[in-house]
Amino acid sequence: MNLYELTIQKAHQMIKNKEISSVELTRAVFDRIDKIDHQVGAYITLTQALAMKQADHADQMIAKGKISLLTGIPVAIKDLICTKGIHTTCGSKILKNFIPPYNASVINKLKRAGAIVVGKVNMDEFGMGSSTENSSLKLTRNPWALDRVPGGSSGGSAAAVSADMCLGALGSDTGGSIRQPASHCGVVGMKPTYGRVSRFGLVAFASSLDQIGPITKDVTDCAMVLNIISGYDHKDSTSVPKDVPDYTHFLKPGLNGCTIGIPKEYFEVNGLDPSVYESVTHAIKTIEGLGAKCIEVSLPHTAYAVAAYYIIAPCEASSNLARYDGVKYGARDKTQPSMIDMYRRTRSKGFGPEVQRRIILGTYSLSAGYYDAYYNKASQVRTLIMEDFNQAFEACDVILSPVAPTPAFKIGENIDDPLTMYLSDIYTLSANLAGIPGMSVPCGFSKDGLPIGLQILGKHFNEKMLLKVAYNFEQTTDFHKQKPAL
Ligand code: GLN
Repeated sequence: MNLYELTIQKAHQMIKNKEISSVELTRAVFDRIDKIDHQVGAYITLTQALAMKQADHADQMIAKGKISLLTGIPVAIKDLICTKGIHTTCGSKILKNFIPPYNASVINKLKRAGAIVVGKVNMDEFGMGSSTENSSLKLTRNPWALDRVPGGSSGGSAAAVSADMCLGALGSDTGGSIRQPASHCGVVGMKPTYGRVSRFGLVAFASSLDQIGPITKDVTDCAMVLNIISGYDHKDSTSVPKDVPDYTHFLKPGLNGCTIGIPKEYFEVNGLDPSVYESVTHAIKTIEGLGAKCIEVSLPHTAYAVAAYYIIAPCEASSNLARYDGVKYGARDKTQPSMIDMYRRTRSKGFGPEVQRRIILGTYSLSAGYYDAYYNKASQVRTLIMEDFNQAFEACDVILSPVAPTPAFKIGENIDDPLTMYLSDIYTLSANLAGIPGMSVPCGFSKDGLPIGLQILGKHFNEKMLLKVAYNFEQTTDFHKQKPAL
C-alpha cells in the first residue's frame, strides 16, 4: 500500500508505532500531488517547504514520546480559512494576493494537534456555488471522471481527499458545500451543528449559515478531526460553550433503539436521478437491517427551502462582502481618478459573475422598500423549516436522504443556468437554515461509476448519532474503500 492511501487513523497508529515517519508520509503526499494534481487541479497554493519542516519537527516530537491525535498528518485547507503568512484567496481575484496576518481558530487547533498543512485548495468564489466552477483562479476536476465537476463549493477539499493528495481536509458548508462535494467525490463529509466549530478566521459568506467541518476518507477519520476542531472559542460569539465528547467513542456496532426518519417530501423531488434513488433506498434498507427502526416523517416546507436560502444567503453576503472595496483588503483598481469609480472598478473587476449576482440580489432584498417582502418573509420561512425539523425529531433520531438529486454533472453543463444549479442544493440547504448537523457518507455508484452519497441529518449537537449511524453503515459496505483510477 502507498503511504498516501492511508487513513488518518491508520497513519496515526503507524506513526505512533514508529513504523513510518511524518517526513516519509508528507513526502509521499507531495509526490502524489506532483504526479496527479495537474489533472485534478485541487490545489491553489502548496506549502511544501513549510510542511516538510513541520513534518521534521513532528518526528522530533514523536521521538520524545509527545504525540497528539494528528501529529505528523498532512491535511489540506479550503482557501477561505485564514492561514497566517499563507495566501488565502477565497477563489477570488479580489483576494488573489491576500496573506492573512493571523490563523483561523481551527488552524491553531489543527497545529496544536500536530497536523501538517499541505496547502490551500480550490473552491467556488467565496463559497458561492455547487461545482467549484465559480472559482476565478482555476478549474478543479472530479477524480472519478475528469470531465465532471467535483461538486462545490469545497470541491478542492473533496477532490484532494478522494485522489489521496492529503489524508483529510477542512471545508466549509453554508448550504451544502461540505456534504455535496463529499458525495460527488465518494468521501465522507460533515457539517457540524451551527456553533460547534469556531468560525473565527473563516472568511464570511453568510454568517448565520456558515460552518467549518471535516472531509475525510472514512467515518473514523471524520470523528477524529471533529474532536480536534470542535469547541467554544471566545473569538466567535456564535460558538457554543458546550463540552466536546470524544466522538470516536460512539463508533460502536449496533443500531438497536435508533429510529430513522424518512422524509417523504425528499423522495418526491423533481429530477431525482434513479441511480441516486436506488442507492439511497438500498442504504436505508441496510441500516434498517442493522437494527434501526424506520418511520416516515414529513418536512412540509421543503419546497420553500431553496427560495428562502437564496434570499437569506445573498442578503448576508451582500453585507459581508462590502468590506472588499479596494481600501482595506485585497486588490485595488488604480486607474480611476475618483473614489467612487475606484470602488466600482475594483469590485466589478475583482468579483466574478456569480458573486456580483448575489451582491445585487442581496442588496435589492435588503433595500428599504423590499426588506419586508423578501428578507423578512424568507426569515419567517426559515423558522417554519426549523419547526419542521423539531417536529420530525420528536419521532426519530436521524433523518436519511439523498445529498444531491444527481451524481456529479459535466463541467459546463449547468454553469449558464444558475436556477438549475440552485435547485441542486434542495437536500442540503435546510440543515443550514435550521442549524442542525448533517453528514454525507458514500452509499453507491451510478451506472457510469460516479459516487453517490447518503445524507444523515440529526438534532442540534447530536453529531455522535450521525457518526454512529454512518459508522455502522460503513462497516457493512466497501464504497469508501474504492478509489478513482488515477
Ligand atoms: N451551493 C450553495 C450556494 O451556492 C451552498 C454553498 C455553500 O455551502 N458554501 O450558496
